[in-house]
Amino acid sequence: MKRRTGQDQSITRQWRPATQAVRGGTARSEFGETSEAIFLTSGYSYDCAGDAAARFAGEQVGMTYSRLQNPTVEMLESRIALLEGAEACRTMTTGMAAMTAVLLCQLQQGDHLVGGRAAFGSCRWLTDTLLPKFGIETTVVDARDPQQWIDAARPNTKVFFFETPANPTMDVVDLKAVCAIARDRGITTVVDNAFATPALQRPMEWGADVTAYSATKMMDGQGRVLAGAVCGTSQFINDVLLPFTRNTGPTLSAFNAWVVLKGLETLDLRIRRQSENSMKVGAFLEARVPRILHPGLASHPQHTLAMAQMDACGPIFAFEVDGGRKQAHGLLDALALVDISNNIGDSRSLMTHPASTTHYGVAEDKRIEMGVTENLLRLNVGLEDPQDVIEDLDQALTKVGL
Ligand SMILES: *Cc1c(COP(=O)(O)O)cnc(C)c1O
Repeated sequence: MKRRTGQDQSITRQWRPATQAVRGGTARSEFGETSEAIFLTSGYSYDCAGDAAARFAGEQVGMTYSRLQNPTVEMLESRIALLEGAEACRTMTTGMAAMTAVLLCQLQQGDHLVGGRAAFGSCRWLTDTLLPKFGIETTVVDARDPQQWIDAARPNTKVFFFETPANPTMDVVDLKAVCAIARDRGITTVVDNAFATPALQRPMEWGADVTAYSATKMMDGQGRVLAGAVCGTSQFINDVLLPFTRNTGPTLSAFNAWVVLKGLETLDLRIRRQSENSMKVGAFLEARVPRILHPGLASHPQHTLAMAQMDACGPIFAFEVDGGRKQAHGLLDALALVDISNNIGDSRSLMTHPASTTHYGVAEDKRIEMGVTENLLRLNVGLEDPQDVIEDLDQALTKVGL
């Protein structure tokens, strides 16, 4: 494997993000292919038995088995690390595999975790159900209020875990304040940055220790594959995360890694255009629905903070109707262009009713507490002409009397 001169880390780190997104991590085979190759191989062979022994002993650089290393997967990991401004990155099969690994690799019986209340349903399941099952105590706070993090921290607190903006209520966490509270107490912050991606928000610049991703969302960006990623210091990735993932095996496939590599090449373009489209659709909806939760609009209670932390608002926001599930489902059923889909980060506009889909598994009282009411709908604005999306929403809203 030949890296083109210029794939020297000291040089790639100086490239600007748009260059890193297209070229970062590229390693060329002897054929000199321009687009990254897909290495569909589970194993590797050695020139001699001594080489095999040296590689297993960590004395020789090279690959041994695709659960542990794969050239295509490594290219993706290098590229994400560069975009994130992190020392290292490891990818996983899905976003949830990444969240599970990043928590279990560093927590043990007797430890305590504080998590953001508004969160993706499965992330709440990790906090509410999985961790306590293994003797790890958890406390959930309103992540928007830094004082709640201070009050919840205990001597045995090891991790602060939150999303910003959060799925689906678009709660925004003050990254600088909350990361400082953690740092003062020796607590590791794990930020699920799926909604913003490194193209719009780099939590480490605000003091976060670890960022974790569903790369299924904006990184792939075209609704094709599932993938996850964890970024952190080399020490965290190599000494804390790797022993867990090497032995439990949530390894991303080379093919899916390649798809995400291609997705990253257009991430910046897509997320900026989708953010612009989301502003237009949001401005239209604001005048038509009882309540909108859109970080790009001045009506969002944390609009100023959101825009200080993020370069743009991103494609996703939520809004409310006032006729409960019947009207919310009626609105979805009246859509002609926008798809009814619980995915996000796609180039297509997609809408879902979180209470009956993504957050169905969260207990009703917890759902209400985090703001996932029967009136709430979540919209991912795609790359279509925003006027077509607005016209579709307009006719659907009219049909349900809004
Ligand atoms: C989708 C999502 C996840 C889970 O990712 P998968 O790739 O679906 O496993 C985790 N966190 C957030 C904020 C998400 O939106």
